[in-house]
Amino acid sequence: MSDKVRVALYWCASCGGCEEAFVDLAEDLIKLAEKVEIVFWPVAIDMKKSDVEQLPDESIDVSFINGGIRLSEHEEMVKLLRRKSKVVVAFGSCAHLGGIPGLANLYSKDEILKYVYLEAPTVVNPEGTMPKEVVKVDGQELELPKVLRLVKALDQVIDVDYYIPGCAPPPDVVKKALDTLLSGKLPPKGSVLGASSRSLCDECDLNKTKPEKILLKDLKRVHQVKLDLSKCYLAQGVLCLGPVTRGGCGTLCIKGGMPCTGCFGPLDNVKDYGARALSYLASILDYDDEAQAEKVIEEYVADPAGWFYRYSLPKSLVRGRYQGSGGEAHG
Ligand code: SF4
Ligand code: SF4
Repeated sequence: MSDKVRVALYWCASCGGCEEAFVDLAEDLIKLAEKVEIVFWPVAIDMKKSDVEQLPDESIDVSFINGGIRLSEHEEMVKLLRRKSKVVVAFGSCAHLGGIPGLANLYSKDEILKYVYLEAPTVVNPEGTMPKEVVKVDGQELELPKVLRLVKALDQVIDVDYYIPGCAPPPDVVKKALDTLLSGKLPPKGSVLGASSRSLCDECDLNKTKPEKILLKDLKRVHQVKLDLSKCYLAQGVLCLGPVTRGGCGTLCIKGGMPCTGCFGPLDNVKDYGARALSYLASILDYDDEAQAEKVIEEYVADPAGWFYRYSLPKSLVRGRYQGSGGEAHG
């Protein structure tokens, strides 16, 4: 066996952006290849589950897993990788917090399948064919993975050692996290690697233009205003979640003229990112008149779950919408 660090990469319910995040390392990927041996990476190398099953337990040094847990196959694979790995890293917002696929927890499994296979405007399915868990093809019985009732973050299924935040994690963050992991000096379990422990505002160039106390009479969406890119966006009435979001991304969205949407997740010791963001918003809205406040919230924050739980609904205290008797959303 070589003395290289043995690494596995796996994706669950993922858009593929987190896989690209490794490719975005560009020439650093070549340096990385000198230090690591990739033992499993289904998106790039033809390897099967049986290849992983044959490996001795804890023979993989680090497994990077991205995507939310949506299917029984994801559960099976991450449990297998947990057994085979010394260290497991939740890579990207979906594995860290449930991510954008986690917004599906606002709907029941049946509602999602009905919409996707029957009702979506681009679907043509005159026979109303729905996916089945067991299908017969040429006399053979094929089993498909089950769709789980709720999307979960990785640490809601297996024990996770570290987190790399971001949607997708930017190259500098990935590089810093890899340097930490490959240095052999591992930080305390549960650490968020490559990121800051302070809020995004703390590293934002526009922070110097942010008034000490912001009080807003109105909110605007980014397309409704010509943003002055040299002034704090929040002070201009555009909801920027920088004050409640972990920093470390290099303010990439802010530099691109977009407010922070919170993909790096909460600061340490905050249990529910969305609740924290909502309470921050409540603290900066300046209304005497309740009707006016309701009007602005209705018009501006038309999709509160999408605004405040865009990346973290499965890790919120409610985890999803109530879906039937017995408080099943908590199951
Ligand atoms: S964290 Fe973002 S980039 Fe990564 S898989 Fe999820 S949606 Fe895609
Ligand atoms: S609120 Fe947004 S724009 Fe303003 S300082 Fe914080 S991160 Fe920068």
